[in-house]
Amino acid sequence: MSETLLARRRESLSPSYRLFYDEPLRPVRGKGVWLYEEDGTACLDAYNNVVPAGHCHPRIVAAVAAQTAQLNTHTRYLHQTILDYAEALLATFPAALNRATFTCTGSEANDLAIRVARHVTGGTGIIVTENAYHGVTLATAEISPSLGAKMPLGAHVRTVPAPAEGMDFSAAVRAAIKDLQRHGIKPALLVVDTIFSSDGVFADPPGFLATAAEAIHEAGGLFLADEVQPGFGRTGSAMWGFARHELMPDMVSLGKPMGNGYPAAGLVAQSHVIDAFGQNIRYFNTFGGNPVAMAAALETLRVIQEEKLMENAATTGAYLMAGLKARHQVQAVRGDGLFIGAELADGALASRVVNHMRAHGVLISASGPAGNVLKIRPPLVFTPAHADILFSALDGALADG
Ligand code: PMP
Repeated sequence: MSETLLARRRESLSPSYRLFYDEPLRPVRGKGVWLYEEDGTACLDAYNNVVPAGHCHPRIVAAVAAQTAQLNTHTRYLHQTILDYAEALLATFPAALNRATFTCTGSEANDLAIRVARHVTGGTGIIVTENAYHGVTLATAEISPSLGAKMPLGAHVRTVPAPAEGMDFSAAVRAAIKDLQRHGIKPALLVVDTIFSSDGVFADPPGFLATAAEAIHEAGGLFLADEVQPGFGRTGSAMWGFARHELMPDMVSLGKPMGNGYPAAGLVAQSHVIDAFGQNIRYFNTFGGNPVAMAAALETLRVIQEEKLMENAATTGAYLMAGLKARHQVQAVRGDGLFIGAELADGALASRVVNHMRAHGVLISASGPAGNVLKIRPPLVFTPAHADILFSALDGALADG
């Protein structure tokens, strides 16, 4: 069956699509932290951050189904749910971040942030980290060096190394600003995934991003916290990854976990920034902010808050990190809450471990420029008992080498 599907994919889908794992997974059903294949094989999902409340959470399924059966339109009619959600969402941010714009994808949110930054600053220069990923649109692909050399960065883009511990990240940002200025390019935006997921997961020390934000502000640019990966409580210590750095972003992009799998994303911004854009330029995103997307997002946020999933991310995350640190083949463990990077000797070993664990029913992945950092990012309903299952699969994989 899988062979047939593989052949049909090759025939009818763009080769841009990539499958995970040497032995591709074919789940037909999901529940909580489990994905099930047709023959009933259960796989422990320690990777899918798009479902913070777990696969097919009954409350979110019911909210989506009820709104789908009642009405689905767009943001050009009055509707209460978008306001209920915007208010609930903004309440999780510092007061200065007080306006929301809804999109369907994180890419669109980042794309909009680039447009806003250009409009407000009059500049075009953008600074990102060396192995960043920020999206699929042309503007966001041009600031996504992790796509590789065949997707050239824009001439207005400069990269800075990911912030390995001990490094002066703000000095690198200041050097990039100088380089832009030397080329006659006015800096518009510093974009940072606040957990540095595709760069290999860098969380510590808390606070190191604050001086980088200061540097871009001094140069007349804006700071965008890309919270598509760390946001919505995943880091355990706070709802938003930027909070651990004690800084105030001008804009924050959101996506992946926002609708527990239903497409919902957005940009939260300070009013003095977004109003200067919005008063001049119309933004209508046909599906963004539609009643079903907002029902999904509202119920997801309520579940995260009422089921105390952020608190669970902190406790289960600490348990996972301690267990990973105890494995001698693991050279470094970085992260916060349920966003964890575990560094192995090289990318080949990490790839063998990921595939071995998959064959034994535990799903993780690897990231970083060398592909040697195991990326562990489960639904936020993951418990220490699930972590023990992960450890035993990891030990088997490491023993196998
Ligand atoms: N920013 C980051 C940090 C991401 O990881 C991603 C998706 N992997 C995006 C933006 C783009 O989000 P989407 O795929 O929803 O367009």
